[in-house]
Amino acid sequence: MKSDIRVCSAWREAHDRPVYTLDDACPDCGASAKNAVPAPFSPEDPNGEYRRALKRRHRQ
Ligand SMILES: [Zn+2]
Repeated sequence: MKSDIRVCSAWREAHDRPVYTLDDACPDCGASAKNAVPAPFSPEDPNGEYRRALKRRHRQ
């Protein structure tokens, strides 16, 4: 299954860590989001701590 996870293109400058989103823009700083492949954390990872973090973020 192909995911459409994106990551803030400016996270290295704007954030302490990669900011993932499903949108075209970063929800935190508004910079454009780029495809997160290759990702430092695989969103397919069954143990994916990051996926749960992303879900929490979108639930707000
Ligand atoms: Zn950002």
